[in-house]
Formats: sequence, structure tokens, C-alpha cells
Amino acid sequence: MSSSLNNLIALWSFCFGAVIASFLNVVIWRLPRGESIVRPPSHCPKCNEPIRWYQNLPILSYLALRGRCAHCRAPISPRYLIIEVAGGLLFWAAYIEFGLLAPLYWVWFALAIVGFMIDFDHKLLPDFVTIGGIFYGLLVALGFSLKYGGYGTILYSVVGAALGLGLFGLIRFLGSRAFKREAMGMGDVLLMGAVGAISGPVAVLFVLMFSSLAGSFGGLAAMAAMRKWGRNFEIPYGPYILVAHLIYIFFGGAMIGWYLGLFK
Ligand SMILES: [Zn+2]
Repeated sequence: MSSSLNNLIALWSFCFGAVIASFLNVVIWRLPRGESIVRPPSHCPKCNEPIRWYQNLPILSYLALRGRCAHCRAPISPRYLIIEVAGGLLFWAAYIEFGLLAPLYWVWFALAIVGFMIDFDHKLLPDFVTIGGIFYGLLVALGFSLKYGGYGTILYSVVGAALGLGLFGLIRFLGSRAFKREAMGMGDVLLMGAVGAISGPVAVLFVLMFSSLAGSFGGLAAMAAMRKWGRNFEIPYGPYILVAHLIYIFFGGAMIGWYLGLFK
């Protein structure tokens, strides 16, 4: 592929990711509140003025309006901008890393963004992210197995899902007994099943290590913040799992290779 065409697709991937993330912003806000995703059309939560299409372009409109409603000038949360930029960057990075296979990752990234934000806001992982992710991973693996022959890919996916569900199911069971309260939500267990189905058993172990490490630091930071400002800053576990999985997708191979190289 010529490099200018390649750059064009990479740029398009970024824009497409930002457009999808802009739609995901609506899903993240409305879904947990039981509101329809399609109706009514976007409006300012403060003055109810409908947002016109040219005021609703991802990233650009936010910057042009300097983060304020065009009608009443009420400030709009920067998280809309952050999610749109994150969506663009993720879709772009997937194209750079995986080329024409990138759309397979885009589907999961879209689900992951929704899961990350809804868990962050409401401490709740929607089933279509977790169980949907398990089925999606198995389905893609099955597709690869059928297309290229052999059972390797689907087997890897099934073993990954089983390890994710089994390992985190066990942690949840033992943790709940040790702490006499729910140590980890069922959503987190199902989410690890999705990680395993999508990326296999090695990813499950990688994500277990990374998310528990990051979760401990996050927990300590949350405790310090709580002591200082008297507010609860604790982050649910789902976002740690999702970020660790992202790190695995883009850097896992290189990091594991580096680690194994230390033994030579
Ligand atoms: Zn307004």
C-alpha cells in the first residue's frame, strides 16, 4: 500500500473513532438512566436548546465553542472532549498496529469505552459489554478458525475465556469469604472472561498482574485523597481491567518478550 494512502486511512481511522466516541458519550449518559439513545436528539442539559449538527462535530465543536453551550454558554464537561480524543487515538493506533484487521479491535474498543465510563460513574458493568465481549471474542476466533482451518484460534479463545472466568470467579469466591463482603463484582468476573475470549489465556494472567498492581496503587491514592478531602475517590475494578487489557493488546507481546529475554 502506498504510504500516502496508508496515512489517509490512518487519519480517517482517527476521525471515525472520534465520531463513534461522540455517539458513545450519548450511550454512556443515557443508558444507565434508562433513557432512549435515539430520542430526543442531543440538547443542552441546562437550557434544553437542541444542538445543531455543526455544533455537534466531535472534538472540533468543543474547541470552537470553548467548551460552552452555544445558546446559554453553560460549561460542558471536558470529559466529552477527552472521550472523543481517546476514541480517535484508539482507532488510529489499532490501524497502525493491526492494519486492515483494525475494525475487529474497534468493535471491542467501543464496548470497552462504554464499560469503562459506566463502571466509573455507576460501579456497574453492562452485560452487553461483558457477556457481549465473551461472545464477540469467541465469534471472531471461530471466524479465523473457519477461514484459515485448524482449531488453534478458537481453542485459544475458549481456554482464555474459561481461565478468565475460572480464575476471577475463584478470586471473587475466596475474597468474599475472607472479607465477609463482596470482594469483586460478578461483572468483573465476566469482563475477565471477555478479555480471555478476545486475547487468550496469557492476556488473562497479564491483566490479573497489571490490574491488581494498578488497583493497589489506585486504592492507596484513593485512601490518601479521602483523608485529605473527605470524599470517596475509590475507582471500581472494571476500568483497571480494561486499561490493562489495552496495554496487553498494544504492548503485551513486546513486554513479555523483554521479560523472557532477561533469563537468557
Ligand atoms: Zn445551553
